[in-house]
Formats: sequence, C-alpha cells, structure tokens
Amino acid sequence: MAHVPAVNLGMPKVPETLAPRRKSRKIKVGNVEVGGDAPVSVQSMTTTPTTDINATLQQIAELTASGCDIVRVAVPSRDDAEALPIIAKKSQIPVIADIHFQPAYVFKAIDAGCAAVRVNPGNIRKFDDKVGEIAKAAKDAGVSLRIGVNAGSLEPSLLQKYGKPTAEALVESAVWEASLFEEHDFHDFKISVKHNDPIVMVKAYRMLAERGDWPLHLGVTEAGPAFQGTIKSATAFGILLAEGIGDTIRVSLSAPPAEEVKVGLQILQSLNLRERRLEIVSCPSCGRAQVDVYTLAENVTEGLKHLTVPIRVAVMGCVVNGPGEAREADLGVASGNGKGQIFVKGEVIKTVPESEIVETLIQEANRIAAEMPTSATGTPEVIV
Ligand code: SF4
Repeated sequence: MAHVPAVNLGMPKVPETLAPRRKSRKIKVGNVEVGGDAPVSVQSMTTTPTTDINATLQQIAELTASGCDIVRVAVPSRDDAEALPIIAKKSQIPVIADIHFQPAYVFKAIDAGCAAVRVNPGNIRKFDDKVGEIAKAAKDAGVSLRIGVNAGSLEPSLLQKYGKPTAEALVESAVWEASLFEEHDFHDFKISVKHNDPIVMVKAYRMLAERGDWPLHLGVTEAGPAFQGTIKSATAFGILLAEGIGDTIRVSLSAPPAEEVKVGLQILQSLNLRERRLEIVSCPSCGRAQVDVYTLAENVTEGLKHLTVPIRVAVMGCVVNGPGEAREADLGVASGNGKGQIFVKGEVIKTVPESEIVETLIQEANRIAAEMPTSATGTPEVIV
C-alpha cells in the first residue's frame, strides 16, 4: 500500500510582505477595523435597487459568503434612504450608505444605523457648510465616514484651477475636506481619491499617503469590464499595497459584485496581505504536454474552490518541471504517458491513470485539509 506522509500545511505566522504597512490611524466601520494594524479589508457595492430590500439583502448574503468584509449601498432617493434601517439591521456585514447630491440622506443614513456613510464632497451642495453638522451627527452615533473624492465629480473650482481631475486636484480636494472635519474634532474617516487611470490614481494615493495618517480606501473608479477592470485594479492596487499604502479596497468591475470580492481577495493573497487559500500552480502547457493541462487545472480548481484552508496544488503537464513543482506544492500531479504521478509534500504517493487524476487530487486535498493543524489558521473548514 502506498505510504501517505504526515502533512503540516500551516502557513508561516507572519508571511513575508514587500514593505511594512504605512502607519495610518485606525477607525471602525461597524465591527470591522480599518487602518492601523487591521488587515486590509475588501469592500463591494450592491447592484440591486436599494428599495428592493429582499433582493439587496440576498445580494449582501452572497457577498458575505464570498468573503466581502464591508458592503456599500446606493442611496439615490428618499425611498432608498427609507430602506436603510432594515438593510443595516439585517445585513451580516457592516453597511455603508453611499450619498451623492443630497445632504439630507447623510443624516437619514446615520439615523438608520448604517455603520458608515460615504460622502462625495464634489457633488453635495454646499458640502463645506454642512461639515460641522455631519461631524456632530456621525460622532454622536459612533458612525464613521468616507470622504470619497472621485475624478468624475470633482468640485468645479478645482476643475477650473487644474483644467482636469489631476492627481494634485484630487488630493487638494481630499486634504481640504479632511481639514474641515478635523477642525470640528472629527477624525473617524477614511479617504479615497479615485480615478479611472491607474497612473493618476497611484500618483494621487502616494501623495495623499504623505499628507496625513488617514486610513485610505483604494479604488480605480469605473475600471471597466471584468478582464480589463481586474488587470487595472490589480496593477494599481498591487503597486500601492506593495508599498504599504491602502487599508481597505474595492475593485470596481462591470460584473456581478461577488466577482469584485474574488479579485480583491486574490490581490491581497498574492501580496501576503491575506492568508493564502487555494492556490493552483499550473503550467501554461506547451508542445511537450502529455495531458490536457487547461481542462485538468480548471477541473481541479472547480473541485477545490470551496476549500478554505491554505493549500497549494500543482498541476503540471509533463515531466520537465512537473515533478519539481509538484514536490514544492502541498499536493501535485506530474503527468506523462497517460498517467499522473500524485505527490504529497514531495513524496509520490501513487500513480493513477489520466482519467483519475482530478478525482484523486480532490480526495487528497480534502484529506489534507481535514488533517490541517488549527494553530496558525483557525479551525480548518471545508465547505461542501
Ligand atoms: S511543465 Fe511540461 S508541459 Fe508544462 S509548460 Fe513546462 S515543459 Fe511544457
């Protein structure tokens, strides 16, 4: 019978990152901490009409299941504002009300029990005159804010001054609004300076990071359809997060919001800012491949997508790099001659026909997950 080695898959307690986190002040969005030493959180936004309370709560439940930490809902009308109390109460994760144009809805959102309110100083009428009142209401209710500056809705005076929404213009808007809140002794806010161009966006956040210790919400606004938006966001967030800048992120995609969360989590995991979970190391395939690597990798990914433990699975097309990569992974297959050599932690445990590779990898992964130590990772959990 094949020998099955004991497995220790615990991740290092402090995984290596590319730079220390920038020192930001810590705020709370409901029960989620943002900034300071809090893990970088992942946000998304519902796409349902907020007035459709059931559909919105259903989407929030899906986002929660996908790993979203904080959800934002749009509040374009009085009816939407009136839906907030139930949504805020029933959501499993903190709800941020997203307010444009109407200052009255800021107060309604605070009264509704939302965890936080996003305000856009560029399009809320006479916003600067209302800062004191907003700061007081938020402070009294223990609600935090986001000053959400956006290239598409910058104050007209700054557009006139800079000619277009440059990084400098976005930062000037944000720093000015932050100073107004701080004059009212209100400090529980984070800032975003979003632009659809990753270059401008990165410049703006770098500048902003130098100007104060505010927690920063990263976003490339209107990043586009899933493929383009994923690349743009991963590029821009990757640069900033690798420099230690960024306390919470939202990937904006023209795609279902749960996709945004998947991308956001994957970006954080790639930089060791979140515990890595399932990681498939698969080769791109080439003329030497002796199995259909794409299908194999896809089927293994699909079969293991519910694993919530850090596990690296190598799916390799031939014996050139196959055994080496398979040995480095927790679990792997090196294929050749219609067969797959199955490795667990560097040892070949069995050789199976090609038709049994996927099934065998899934079985072994589940076995390994069930044996994982609880110390570094919390209780191992396999959702099936
Ligand atoms: S592992 Fe083999 S099949 Fe895959 S890319 Fe490398 S050489 Fe090609």
